[in-house]
Formats: sequence, structure tokens, C-alpha cells
Amino acid sequence: MSKDLAETGRLQVLLSQLGGALDGYLDFAHPDAFQSRDDWQAALNRPLPEKGEGIDSVVKELIDTLVANASAVPNPGFSGYITTGGVTASALATTAASISSPQRYMLTAFNYVEELSLLWLAQMLGIPTLKGVYSSGGSVANLVALGGARQQAFEAIGIDPASEGIDRPVRIYASDQCHHTIQRSAGVLGLGRRSVRAIPSDANGCIRVDALEQAIEEDRAQNLLPIAIVANAGTTNTGAIDPLRALGTIAQKNGIWFHIDGAYGLPGILDPRKAPLYDGLELADSVIVDPHKWLGASVGVAATFVKDRDILLRAFTQEPADYLEGSVETDESETYQHSLDDFGIPYYDYGVELSAPCRGVVVWSMIKEIGEEGFRQRIMRHNDMASSLARIAQQHPQLELLLEPTLSICCFRFVDDRVDDLNAFNQKLLRHLVRENNYMPTSTRIGDKLAIRPCYIGARHEPEQVQGLIDEVIRIGNRLL
Ligand SMILES: *Cc1c(COP(=O)(O)O)cnc(C)c1O
Repeated sequence: MSKDLAETGRLQVLLSQLGGALDGYLDFAHPDAFQSRDDWQAALNRPLPEKGEGIDSVVKELIDTLVANASAVPNPGFSGYITTGGVTASALATTAASISSPQRYMLTAFNYVEELSLLWLAQMLGIPTLKGVYSSGGSVANLVALGGARQQAFEAIGIDPASEGIDRPVRIYASDQCHHTIQRSAGVLGLGRRSVRAIPSDANGCIRVDALEQAIEEDRAQNLLPIAIVANAGTTNTGAIDPLRALGTIAQKNGIWFHIDGAYGLPGILDPRKAPLYDGLELADSVIVDPHKWLGASVGVAATFVKDRDILLRAFTQEPADYLEGSVETDESETYQHSLDDFGIPYYDYGVELSAPCRGVVVWSMIKEIGEEGFRQRIMRHNDMASSLARIAQQHPQLELLLEPTLSICCFRFVDDRVDDLNAFNQKLLRHLVRENNYMPTSTRIGDKLAIRPCYIGARHEPEQVQGLIDEVIRIGNRLL
């Protein structure tokens, strides 16, 4: 078959077959994949195919074996970690781009919505003057932002760290609640994981401003070059939001780059009751958000926003390459006549990926589908779920609220006088709960207490699930007593 993929007209049939199977998956009537693990492993465990079986066989096995035994993450009962299933608009946009626009560069409509969607995101999330670039996730988004911070700090002392490397010890300041991709970014950027100084947080999980100021003063006396102050706008553990204005002011006063990690929590600003917690956001030099968390994009979509994209260009440029010579229009007097005449905005030099899928179309499609108002309602619903769970836990004699929710994460546990080791008991309770496949939160620690920790970010998370989870925790808790 010379045309590859499939013969003309077959795609519609194949996508429709797959769509039917996916609709079936989304009923969540099937048992968990692990139940039939022996069967699907046996079905898949075949030697390297010498001859191809053809696309029909691929689609059949995709449907019968893979989709039928897939992840629990999209299940509305799953509320673990900070992850959820992608919404329909995202799946359709991803599919459309994977076939019709495999790269984000060149002067196409897909390239255009890459920038347009970044603008919409920035406007929706309270950072309208910042410019963005997409990447695969919060891990890379933090790396890109801190690459900008490194560039600024070293350029200020006459060194281009991107081309020359660094010549002295540095500091990044972040609370002990920061996501560990901050440390990894410091490692990858050649600053060293230990350059991240963990500033203690208070009982609510927010950075202690007094401790930060003291740390900066101590390090200054040691001649350590400050690179960035990192604030959390929604910690991964509990959703705590650091005092952004206080941190931004300290950063400004000391001439330090101010980075805000809003991978999970930035969309919380859409809830007018929570918006005041984001006061000071405009002081940020960089902000990240993961549309693949609270906004419902399929995994693989994050954005870094910065005041000045040129700094990213200097931090991440690949420098000229021979194979690019002459392919695109460089004579300014010529006007473009073809989509291949120019690469468009050089996203590939604002970060660490050259080949990259179109992610803007995913964000564009989700915002176009439900609008800012749709997101506001969804985010308020999730915040309400966490706070109503908190109220129930406070009132129930067999439940204990461990931390007042900031956003859509609630930390609570089962308690009873007859239990000696509440941590071990709640861990066991959680394992039993998850195995029933209806409610699947994960856990965390609040101080030395193990907490059951649902995180509501999914488009399919509905208010009834709060009472449902409570009822199951009480039922299983009493059964295990
Ligand atoms: C999830 C998360 C990250 C990492 O994002 P990935 O998309 O998983 O790479 C970074 N920071 C915070 C605050 C997060 O919640």
C-alpha cells in the first residue's frame, strides 16, 4: 500500500470504530484493568512481527485489548494526585493536529492558534501582558522559566550562561512544599539541585516570609548569586497559595527573578471567592500553568509565561544550522506567499523542544467549547466540592478534617477511639476503598498524619461524589474496626 496510513476514505471508518469503543470505555462499567491482567498480557506478549498484520488488526487490538484494559484516571471516581482524563474537545483537537499539522511551526492556522490560545489563557488567568510558550508538562515548563531566571541573573554580571556555563554557586528560593521539578530543573540547568534552598512553610503550607528574608540575607553575606524566588500558586500536596505580593516585593527589592508555579492552581483565580489569594500575580517574571490538570487537556500540555520572551530566546537558542539555510524567506523586502516561507513565532527557540505537537489547538478548542464562564463554573464547582467535604468531615464524629481546603483538594481522615495507629488504619482503609473501584482518592501527610486526599479537577467530577466518598469511607472504616 503506497499511500500509507490507510486508503482514502478509510480514516473515517477507522476513527468511527475507535470512537465507538471509547464511548463504551467512558461508561466505566468495566472492572479495573488489573483484574484481567493475565489475559491481556498474554494477548499482547507476542514476538516482534516479521510481517505486518494491517491496520484493521491494529484497530481491533486497540479496541479489544488496550482500550478495554486502560487507565482508571479518566474514571469520575478517580480523584488522586493532580491528574484527570482529557475532555472531548482536547481529544478531537489532538487527533486533528496529529494528522493535519504534525508540527507547530510554519504559517498555518494551527500555528496561529498556538499564539492566540496563549493570549486567551493569559487573559483568562490574570496575566494578560505575559507571553507564553507551550511544553509537555509542568516539569519542562518550570525548567524553561528557570532557564530565563538563570539567563537574567548571569547577564546582569556580564556572563551568558547559555553559551559559557556558570562560574559560581547560586541560590534558588522555594518553600519546602515546592514541587520537586524545581530541584530537577536546577540540576538540569547546571545550577545543582542543592542550589534550591528550602524555606520552611507554616501550618497551612505557605512559605514563611520572615524565613525567606533571613535566608536571602545569609546567602548574600556568602556571596551566593540569587537566581529566583519561586512561589506556589497551589501546592501539589494541599493546594496552598504562597503570599504572592509579599514574595514579589522581596524579589523586586533584591533584583531577583520572581517565578510562580501555578501548574495546578493558577486556574483557581477564576473563582471570584479565591481571586484575592492571587494578589501580586502581576509582579511575576514567569508563571507556569498545566492545562492538562485543572483545564482538562489530555496529558502533554503545559505553558510557561514570561514578561520578556527574548530572554528565553537567549537562554534556549539552538544557534544557526546549515540545513535551515535558504529554506525560508530571509529577505525582508519579499512578502510571504506560502506557509513554508517562514517558521512563524520561534517557539522552538523559547524552550527545549524543536519538533513538538500543536498544543495551542487543544487549549483553543477547550476555551471555545465552554468559554471563560464554563471554566469559572467548573472550577467553582470543584472548590465547592472540597469545602463541602471539609464541612461534613468537621461535623462527623468519625471523621477529622486535617486542613481547611484552599482550592479543590481536601485532606481528612477516619478516626475512632478504638484505633491505635490511625496512619496505618487510614492507609488500609484507602487501599480497600480504591479496590472497590468507585472512589479512588490518594493520600498525603499533613504533619505526621496520613490524610485521605481527594483532588477535584476533572470535568466529570460532580457534587454527589462528595457524599458518596464520605459514605464509603465511613462504611469501610467501620467494617475494618
Ligand atoms: C504537577 C505539578 C508539576 C509538574 O507538572 P507535570 O505536568 O506533572 O510535569 C509542577 N508543579 C506543580 C505545583 C504541580 O502540581
